[in-house]
Amino acid sequence: MERIVAKFGGSSVADAAQFRKVAAIMQADPRRRILVVSAPGKRRPDEAKITDLLYLCHDMAAMATGIDEPFGLITERFTGIAAELGIDSALPGLLQTFRRELEAGCSREFAVSRGEFFCARLMAEFLGAEFVDPANHILLRGNGLVDPVSYERLRSRLADESRMYVMAGFYGRNRQGEITTFSRGGSDISGAIAARAAGAILYENWTDTSGLLIADPRIVDNPRAIEEISFREVREMAYMGASVFHDEAILPVREAGIPVAIRNTNRPEDPGTRIVPKLGAKALTSTEIAGISGLNNATMITVEKSLMNKEIGFGHRLLGIFLQHNISFEHCPSSIDSMSVIVLDNKLRGLDQTVLDDIQRQLEPDHLNIEKDLALIAVVGEGMVRTVGIAAKIFTALAAAHINVRVINQGASEINIIVGVAAGDYEEAVRAIYRAFVPEESPTA
Ligand code: ASP
Repeated sequence: MERIVAKFGGSSVADAAQFRKVAAIMQADPRRRILVVSAPGKRRPDEAKITDLLYLCHDMAAMATGIDEPFGLITERFTGIAAELGIDSALPGLLQTFRRELEAGCSREFAVSRGEFFCARLMAEFLGAEFVDPANHILLRGNGLVDPVSYERLRSRLADESRMYVMAGFYGRNRQGEITTFSRGGSDISGAIAARAAGAILYENWTDTSGLLIADPRIVDNPRAIEEISFREVREMAYMGASVFHDEAILPVREAGIPVAIRNTNRPEDPGTRIVPKLGAKALTSTEIAGISGLNNATMITVEKSLMNKEIGFGHRLLGIFLQHNISFEHCPSSIDSMSVIVLDNKLRGLDQTVLDDIQRQLEPDHLNIEKDLALIAVVGEGMVRTVGIAAKIFTALAAAHINVRVINQGASEINIIVGVAAGDYEEAVRAIYRAFVPEESPTA
């Protein structure tokens, strides 16, 4: 039987009404047999996510501060959902045990994993499905990567195709047997692992937006959703800041060739975005680009030295300085006598002066320049290789908006063009590029 794995994010399970929407979505397609859930998210913008409250509880317990308040909020959220859905659950007892574990000094990762654990138990009970604890099946290696044995273990656990399963997202277990969590937003990864393990035909990722948008909606008013995007494109978009789907979640499904659909729990009638191994002819021809994403917090260090091109090992030594300080870099554009290294500020960690001193001492450049407050904008699209004039369109749009382009980088894969502009020009630049590629919708009469 063909099966779909459906993962529901925090806002999709935030309260009893959202649980009912999930049930309706599951019932609407009998192939949806495996569900993966996050912990309940915010119901209102000013409310805390359960995961954040759990971090807080753990840290307060570790400082021997009373945890009544945050723990009370967590209890209220879960018992409220259970009461409203009329679930006769073992929840109160489990919560009490958990409180004792917190006060006895349980690990931080165990503590935060309970958000997904309780949520999945409630959802399983509500749907009359089987609860699956990933701690028994997903094994994580020291570097946070999934041990491939996990797929086999999970496959046997999810083997009965006549059943419905609900698995908790966000965590697994390490070799020492301790609960280990993925990075934030990691339930997407759990869903992808389940999809691969179960040999699903589709991995649905249900969230609160109707798919991936061509540009950031905080910058562009009402941007269009992307209908279809390839794994390669989505990886570039995610890496450059567009977040809807955790970038590490792509790997398990991509390797198995399972398409992903990003859907909106609050508007299930919307088609959402399909992420596919290979773009269909329509996606390749209908839009020249897939999307625009960007990061507004980069620094560029430029080293100039005459005859640098003849000095063997110059680039190696320059990048070696970044390595020594454990700073990863994003791009490294170069010309005959100059080389720049672009790093994100959070990776540079305020070490700019140290890095500059080392470069000065070790490479003795003619000029050394640092440019802070740089924004990087990626225009992404596989169709670029075949389309003439994409770069011209980008730069014409930027010139018309009087935006100075500080740096340009196009990878050999020709899947994106990256332009660097001053941070102050970032938003206007994104809008200008968006307008250049997405024709204005004609107003409906
Ligand atoms: N609950 C976790 C978080 O808030 C994981 C997830 O929602 O995917 O990051």
